[in-house]
Amino acid sequence: MEVKTFGVVGAGQMGGGIAQVAAMSGLAVIMHDIEDKFVEKGVKTISGLLAKNVDKGKMTSEERDAVLGRIRPVTDLSALADADFVVEAASEVEPVKFEIFRNLDRICRSEVILATNTSSIPIGRIAAKTKRAEQVIGMHFMNPVPVMKLVEIIRGLATNDATHKTTWDLSLRFGKTPVNANDYPGFIANRILMPMINEAIYALYHGVGTVEDIDAVMKLGMNHPMGPLTLADLIGLDTCLAIMEMLYTGFSDSKYRPCPLLRRYVETGWLGRKVGRGFYTY
Ligand code: NAD
Repeated sequence: MEVKTFGVVGAGQMGGGIAQVAAMSGLAVIMHDIEDKFVEKGVKTISGLLAKNVDKGKMTSEERDAVLGRIRPVTDLSALADADFVVEAASEVEPVKFEIFRNLDRICRSEVILATNTSSIPIGRIAAKTKRAEQVIGMHFMNPVPVMKLVEIIRGLATNDATHKTTWDLSLRFGKTPVNANDYPGFIANRILMPMINEAIYALYHGVGTVEDIDAVMKLGMNHPMGPLTLADLIGLDTCLAIMEMLYTGFSDSKYRPCPLLRRYVETGWLGRKVGRGFYTY
């Protein structure tokens, strides 16, 4: 099916980034969030990033205006009835995603593919909330979306070949490199990344090193572009905790237990860069 109008649910750091790359690829985009202030923040972030592209000579101001003009911000999910393909990028909370998929299944035309940007929730579990499990798929972008090349494509047991092909081709259209992963907790990316981040938080919890020292060891010693605690702040500590919980319960294996310090930060509302306070202050 030809995709002309692309729907995004959730206008946070990932949803905004996905809306931006879709609009930059020439698609009309409908970007949804629950309140005006969230969609406005999403549009403001996109405009800021595009302005930097103009300053660096990577795009003209006419191109920037055209990209912004292709993004329609909405707070009513029914607007997604016009979309040919939808990707959900709302908070990593199971009941939130389940409710969105139940509603999208009712609102969107029967042939429309419903993708999720979930970091760790099983695709099959989300698909089961719809009557179109064969058209539900994981389309897992990396943060920041406009910069990072990878899209993990995760088929649920029921996902059909046509859904996989359309999702794969869209990733290529966005200038990304798709990679297949199977539907197990954390898929590939977070199965490997998140236990490393969690272990860095344990190292802090046990007093092995300071925040700065732990990050310096991984940057200078392992050549990581940023330290694990900086990366945790970038991802969002709520999202990190949700992913660790999914690994822990999904495999029933204590090796994935989330660090109590991570839980304390999340309970305190220190969710990282997006709120100005995490392991670092922004
Ligand atoms: P975020 O907190 O920046 O944004 C989430 C957005 O979802 C918020 O704007 C919130 O208002 C909105 N939202 C909440 N409930 C909603 C609903 N019912 N309908 C519509 N919108 C709703 O989070 P994020 O980092 O953008 O993460 C979004 C998704 O992307 C999560 O599933 C996360 O696991 C996944 N993800 C995150 C990263 C990362 O590095 N942060 C990377 C890959 C995937």
